[in-house]
Amino acid sequence: MSQKSEILIVGGGVAGLALATRLGNSLGKQGQARITLIDKSFSHVWKPMLHCFAAGTAQNENDRISFMAQASEHHFEFWPGEVIGIDRDKRQAVLGPLRSSDGTVVLEGRTVEYDALILSIGSCANDFGTPGVAEHCLFIDNLVEANGFNEKFRMELLRAYAGDGALDIAIVGGGATGTQLAAELHKALELVRLHSFSQTPPALNITLLEAGPRILPAFPEQVSEAAQKELERIGVKVRTSAMVSGADENGFSLKDGSHAPATLRVWAAGVKAPEVTSGFGGLSLSRSGQILINPNLQTVDDPAIFAMGDCSYIVNDPLPPTAQVARQQAHHLARHLPAWLRDKREVPSCVFNNKGAIVALGNYNGWGTLPGGTVFGGGVFHGLSARLGHLALYRQHQIELYGLTRGLMSCFSDWVDSLVRPSVRLD
Ligand SMILES: Cc1cc2nc3c(=O)[nH]c(=O)nc-3n(C[C@H](O)[C@H](O)[C@H](O)COP(=O)(O)OP(=O)(O)OC[C@H]3O[C@@H](n4cnc5c(N)ncnc54)[C@H](O)[C@@H]3O)c2cc1C
Repeated sequence: MSQKSEILIVGGGVAGLALATRLGNSLGKQGQARITLIDKSFSHVWKPMLHCFAAGTAQNENDRISFMAQASEHHFEFWPGEVIGIDRDKRQAVLGPLRSSDGTVVLEGRTVEYDALILSIGSCANDFGTPGVAEHCLFIDNLVEANGFNEKFRMELLRAYAGDGALDIAIVGGGATGTQLAAELHKALELVRLHSFSQTPPALNITLLEAGPRILPAFPEQVSEAAQKELERIGVKVRTSAMVSGADENGFSLKDGSHAPATLRVWAAGVKAPEVTSGFGGLSLSRSGQILINPNLQTVDDPAIFAMGDCSYIVNDPLPPTAQVARQQAHHLARHLPAWLRDKREVPSCVFNNKGAIVALGNYNGWGTLPGGTVFGGGVFHGLSARLGHLALYRQHQIELYGLTRGLMSCFSDWVDSLVRPSVRLD
């Protein structure tokens, strides 16, 4: 392989950071290729935890991984910036200007060259153009939005403590994000009560609106039913077959003519690729803007460009937008990209190995599914084992990125932290 091979990874999420770390540890360390990661933020978070940041039950400092620190320890380069286009003829990614929080341009727009470009820019919720949603709803697609939600949640709780004593929140989307957020918000209020200055805590009225006939549609029916019962047990109102037709400053309008009142309105339904993919050098896209790829993760239009994770869509055989898929695809490219660059050896198809799925409702309950024919012959498990399994996925991710020793030290430091800090964000 030539010394000049440039591997450019755009997006340091579940897939992108795993790939950059693995390629850095192999090709980067041996000086065989220059690996560059670009992300529009400065640090990585495990996206399946965003609802915990939104509720304030996760502490940002411990759960963020600095891209710069990770890059310097794992032999790759990191540059902050948002990729806004691709010049496929020149093999360059186009970055927009980098601005500080007050809008000042810190770095002018620039281009970065590549021999292999890997796109892993994730996804965001899809409001399907529903009127009023963009103006009146909050989203929790990234850490900035999750923190923004938490700020509003704390302020509205304060108002409820001081005022009429009730806070109405409505969440649209009964998938893993919305369902877990509903439970986590309830848990957050219980924790806030432990530190509150008043003996009369406000009522938290959470409504979960799902357009389909059941919540958690990706799970077996028995899990949907049990999760709905659990949510109702803690006081969350679950409305299924509830198609939202609009949002305003007072809540959501539903197709059946009813209205769900809410001070805080969250949109956690649907999945689409970030808008920016439409400017990616004419790469073919799915209806949701995801980049069309072959089973070997190469884009259908350009063999020098690969895509993985939520922003990609395998033609004729799409996979669900989950962390498990993103991680396996990153491992696949880490294994096969070196030979593709060095010997022009074809990247083989990436075969998804379904290891099941887990959902956790705060510290109330959790459910996991095992695919048939694996451990215990497949099936569903729930309770503490599912909740611990959910936590274990995050720890596995940390250990993969940090290495075993540092990963375990990080678990220990989180435990110590939990003894000295309030278990919910109060400021
Ligand atoms: C609240 C919530 C709960 C979830 N729970 C689960 C769960 O329990 N189990 C599960 O399997 N999945 C879950 N998911 C889905 C899971 O998080 C995603 O499938 C996974 O993160 C996808 O990984 P990715 O690498 O494709 O993208 P991401 O992890 O989203 O990373 C994308 C990265 O790209 C960067 N980026 C975006 N645009 C640009 C750009 N133009 N230029 C530069 N950088 C850019 C972003 O800053 C980000 O770092 C959940 C998601 C949410 C929101």
